[in-house]
Amino acid sequence: MQIVKDNGPITGEQIADRLNLTRATLRPDLAILTMAGYLDARPRVGYFYTGKTGTQLLTENLNKIFVKDYQSIPVVVNENVSVYDAIVTMFLEDVGTLFVVDANTYLVGVLSRKDLLRASIGKQELSTLPVNIIMTRMPNITVCEKDDQLIGVAKDLIHKQIDSVPVIKKTENGDLEVIGRITKTNITKAFVALADEY
Ligand code: ADP
Repeated sequence: MQIVKDNGPITGEQIADRLNLTRATLRPDLAILTMAGYLDARPRVGYFYTGKTGTQLLTENLNKIFVKDYQSIPVVVNENVSVYDAIVTMFLEDVGTLFVVDANTYLVGVLSRKDLLRASIGKQELSTLPVNIIMTRMPNITVCEKDDQLIGVAKDLIHKQIDSVPVIKKTENGDLEVIGRITKTNITKAFVALADEY
């Protein structure tokens, strides 16, 4: 990198000469530096230094991660199911958040673990209490779309202090179809994958 920084544009052949190496030996190293964005290569001109720092490159890569790359399958319940059944679904499906839909399967609410716990510490009959009484309801639901940047969703999770956001698709009438979910787990996976790239 120092050679390219000081002498660029410089060909692979010239770099190899300076290091007393063959061009073939050097090729994988140059490929890695180019892929990572530290160097750029132009045909018949050679390599040159991009001047980008590690942090800049990390930010560029972060901005290229989208919801659709990491979203998982949503678990939904109908708004008329009982709190009892919602609790059972949460355990069986092994999720921390349920999305609540109406008869047309459009998004109407969200149920978190604590929403269900809160309902359970009252003296209410859980098997007859419908979830639409206790859920957080539209229009107060934070949503995202498949082409949104994942970093934006991560910021929403932090600012709104929530664990999960439904991935929605808006219909022509403005109704919201639930097509996926992004949770703290998906964000953690993206974070780890980003670290593995370097
Ligand atoms: P928990 O309540 O188990 O800690 P959350 O932090 O996700 O889980 O939820 C906090 C509150 O925010 C709950 O009342 C829940 O209904 C609501 N909530 C969860 N996700 C969303 C969302 N995407 N949009 C709006 N409200 C949400």
